[in-house]
Order: sequence, then structure tokens, then C-alpha cells
Amino acid sequence: MGLVEIIPLGGAGEIGKNCTVVSQGDDMVLIDCGLSFPNEEMFGVDIVIPDFTYLIKNRHRLKGIFITHAHEDHIGALPYLLSKLKVPVYSSELTIAMLRQKLEDRMDTREVKLHVMNPGDTVEIGSLKVESIRITHSIPNTTSIGVMTEHGWVLFTADFKFDFTPVDGKLTDLARFAEMAEEGVVCLLSDSTNVERPGWGPSESLVSEGFRKVFTTAPGRVLITTFASNIHRMQQAFTVASETGRKVAIAGRRMEQTVDLCTRLGYLQVPANTKIKLDEVNGFPPEKIVILTTGSQGEPMSALVQMSKEEYSRMRIREGDTLIYSARPIPGNESAIWRTVNRLFRMGANVIYDSPTPIHVSGHAYQEELKMMINLTRPFYLAPVHGEPRHQALYREIALGMGYPAHRIFTMVDGLPLRIQETSAELGDPVECGRVLVDNAGNEGISDEVLRDRASLANDGIVVISLAIDPEAGEVVGNPEVMAKGFSGPDKALQLCADTVYDTIRGLKKSELQDVDFVRHTIGDVARRQFSRRNQLRPLVVPVVIEA
Ligand SMILES: [Zn+2]
Ligand SMILES: [Zn+2]
Repeated sequence: MGLVEIIPLGGAGEIGKNCTVVSQGDDMVLIDCGLSFPNEEMFGVDIVIPDFTYLIKNRHRLKGIFITHAHEDHIGALPYLLSKLKVPVYSSELTIAMLRQKLEDRMDTREVKLHVMNPGDTVEIGSLKVESIRITHSIPNTTSIGVMTEHGWVLFTADFKFDFTPVDGKLTDLARFAEMAEEGVVCLLSDSTNVERPGWGPSESLVSEGFRKVFTTAPGRVLITTFASNIHRMQQAFTVASETGRKVAIAGRRMEQTVDLCTRLGYLQVPANTKIKLDEVNGFPPEKIVILTTGSQGEPMSALVQMSKEEYSRMRIREGDTLIYSARPIPGNESAIWRTVNRLFRMGANVIYDSPTPIHVSGHAYQEELKMMINLTRPFYLAPVHGEPRHQALYREIALGMGYPAHRIFTMVDGLPLRIQETSAELGDPVECGRVLVDNAGNEGISDEVLRDRASLANDGIVVISLAIDPEAGEVVGNPEVMAKGFSGPDKALQLCADTVYDTIRGLKKSELQDVDFVRHTIGDVARRQFSRRNQLRPLVVPVVIEA
């Protein structure tokens, strides 16, 4: 029997940009193709996507892309990959519909083959068979994906929780997971995001209770902010609003689009006479209104953030409004979120961000659910993904506690292939892998050097040192000039820099002064060293040499 390789190009040792290759002989499939969000140090970066070099080099082997669900960390990089490689995509009806919407902004969708593969469906890709299995998560139509290899099922749980009272009534196909265990699961790639939480996570449908409490007691309008993709959450808002006699309006273009799409496809049941337009809100008493809005992550362009700055033309926050913060801050967004919340309080609104009756629950499995998944599928090898190293380490502890021997648990790392042979498995040599930074205009490839420059600029400003030389004669013409913007150091720091540069230049040989590049580098180095040694500052230093 041959070699099966599982290669994460993203999503292993991190939460975000999930993207994993499964290959056997000449056949290769990709599971998910997601993005992640930049950290605070990535100035001017909008999103982060995986480096696709490995896929492009193996384009002749890549036969299909399978998407588990429509969250950005699983689907968001796909438009970038599809603009380079036209590989057929398979996913459930809703995910395909949301993907199509996303692709329409960037390309002619007739160029890509988008196939609906609903829970329970299988697709043959060369020597591989791929099956999707229904599982519960915070977005409808989430599927685990099994890839049948020569050694058995390579099973991706996808993001999941075991929710026995899901909002849409569609339960996890537990029976199929148990059957797969009988057929043989060689490796389970499990969600590990919530491995730090003991016990069993609460059902999504509990949020209805939290909403009901606020809808019946809030004195005025109720605003709810959540992810635009959280369809189960929006469903509960509509249902409870209808029960409590409130009308629902939507503020935010993406949320509006998702609601329209999901209503059209039947994934969202809007009760009759419940949905109104945002412009109609003022025609109703405040205690009869619910407004669903984007901006749960403090995104500057979102409706909620603009409202909090009184910059949203379609609606204003008023005293007596109540905002339900029905989401979890993605690490890195906390300060933007709190700034928004504080502004809302200052405007006289009440913000509920924590409550004994849940107003938000996680879509990811807690410890006991993770154990149940292991017990249900009885994999030979375990590989926790969708978690940072600390999550993977704790998952490993838990698996050891369940009696798994250490050599059957792998801590996956982006770019390292898990190589499975008939009687053994090991992590192999790295493949080309990394991150690609995309700016606000959608352009790929902001380099680490550019990021470093931006960090220097943001922290310590910019210093431009210009010097005129006569390269033919090998002579300096006049004194160096130093200009700075955003630089804040001791009064004499800039003069000292000019003096040091001058002294250095005077010490250069004639032949060295004839080499313009050499002079430029020398000035830059001297100035940088001067600032960092004397002042502990690292401004962006730009040496300019003028040939006179
Ligand atoms: Zn995810
Ligand atoms: Zn998800």
C-alpha cells in the first residue's frame, strides 16, 4: 500500500486560514481554503491568506476543493486561489450559494465549477472517495469531510459542537460517524479551539432565552450585533421578536445580503409581518423594534461602529436603546470593540455583553464533546487542528488520558506533511508554506520588509538624510541635511545624526565616494546605529544621495 499525506497549508497551530491537502499517488484534494485576520502589528493589512505555491506546483494533481462550511476562516481565501487555479469546488447548497455571492465581486463565476455536495453525498476523485457528513456548528449546512484512502478514512471534523437542540432541527449524523469507525478511521483531524473549556457546551438554542428576557424588559429599541454569517442567531432574533411583538430591521449590507439569500433558500424562516426596512423603524414605538447589525468586531466601516460615532446616516443611537453584544471578540479586536461599547454607553445606550442567561454561545466543542468525537470515530491517529499550540498540547493531554499512546497523536504544524504508511506515520520535511498579506484593495503580497517599515514609521517616525556628492570627482558637495516627520527624540538627536554622518563621509576614500550605492548604504547604517544606540529609537531612515 502507498503513502497518504496530510499537509496543512494553514490552520495548524493557529486559529484561522484553514487549508489542508490530502494526497495519495497522483490524486490530491484540498479541504477548506480560509483566511485569517491581521494582528495589531500588521499595518494596512486587511486579510491574511495561505501561500498557494505548493498547490500551484502540484496543480496537475489537485482534483477538487471541499469546503466544510461558509465561515471566512474556511472559505475566505478561495477567491484568491480560484483566480490562480480553476479547480472544481464541492460543498453544501448554502456554502456554495454564499461562495458564489463572494466570487461574483471578483470573477466570472461561469469559469469555475461549483458543485453542490450536500450532507451524505459522496464524490469520487481518482483513487480517493470524499464524503460529507452533517454536523452541528454556528452556521447551517456545516459538514465534516471524510476522505477514503488506502489506509482508511482521513476524517476532518470541521468546526463542530454536539448540539442536540439545534435551531434548524438538523442533528449531527452520529450514526454515520459510528459506521465510519467500523470502516476504519486512520486519522481524525479535530477542531480543538475550545479544548480549554471543561464539560459540554450549551446549545445554540439557549440564546433564545437570553433574547426573550431582553426583548420583554428593555425600555426601548433593542439592537443585536453578531456575525453576518450567524444565521442561527438571526433566526432566533426573528422568532423571539415575533413572539414578543417586535419588528426586526437590518443595518449592514452584508447582513442584509445573507438574510435575503438564506430566506430565499429556506435556511431562515422569517415570521410574517416581522421584517421591516431600516427607514421604517421610526414609524413604530421604540419598544416594538429590534435592529440586527454588523460590527461585532469593532470593524471601522460597520454599521454599529458608525452609529457609535454618529456617522451612520440611516440611523442614530438614542438614549434608552439597548445593545446585545451577541458574539465573541476575536483576539486582537478587543480594544476596537470596547471603544465602540464605551461610545454607546456615553450616548445613553445600555450594552449587554455578559448575562447569566446566555446571549451568545460558542459554536465549538468543549472537552467532553471532543472526547465523544474521539470515542465515536475511534481513529488510529489523532491530529488536533483549528487551535494554537496551547490548544493542541491540551488536546494531546486529553487524548493521553483516554489511553491513546503518545506516538499516535500528532501536533500538526503548517507546512509539515503527516505521512501515513501502512504500519507507521511520521511528520515529514516541510513543503513551501507561509502567509500572504492582502491589503484593503485586495492586492496580495505585502512583504515582511514593508511591514517592518510600517512598524518603524508608526512607532518612531521617519528620518530622511540627504547628501550631495560629485561621484566623478569623488567629493562631497555641501553638508548632509536631516529632515524628520513623526520623530520624537532628544532635541539634539537630529543634529547629532547629521554630524555623525558628516564625520563618516569625510572619512571615506575617494574611490568609496565614487560609489553612490555604497555612500547611500553607509549613511543609512550610520544613522540607524546612531538612533538605536544613543536614543533607543528605530525610525525609518531614508538615505538620499544626490549626484551633483
Ligand atoms: Zn473555523
Ligand atoms: Zn466555523
